[in-house]
Amino acid sequence: MDPKENVDYESDDSSDWSSAQEMDNSDTELNPIYCLFCCETFETIETTFAHLITNHNLDLIQICNKNKFNSFQYIKLLNYIRLEKPNCNQMNELIESKVWDNDQNMKPVISDDLLLMFGIN
Ligand SMILES: [Zn+2]
Repeated sequence: MDPKENVDYESDDSSDWSSAQEMDNSDTELNPIYCLFCCETFETIETTFAHLITNHNLDLIQICNKNKFNSFQYIKLLNYIRLEKPNCNQMNELIESKVWDNDQNMKPVISDDLLLMFGIN
């Protein structure tokens, strides 16, 4: 009389399908956002900023707030970084030097650069 014979293991399937996210935004083909300092790409501005803080120790929003940059200065700084690829350890000096603060840097280095669409203020 062994009851084990009849045990049904039907539901003991531990297959992991927890992270099946249904993202349907195929209508809008979003350009990836390139990191300022490495070759990683991101889908949203928020994740890009978070990556910059975690991986490159650069908090762009805080910098802009602290220095009271307007959106034009934000764009110029961003384009300058993309163009010159400064070392992220030298960002403080770079920001204070204001070498990036001229109208030449209003021109996007990357076309459709989503980071430039981010509105400071
Ligand atoms: Zn990066």
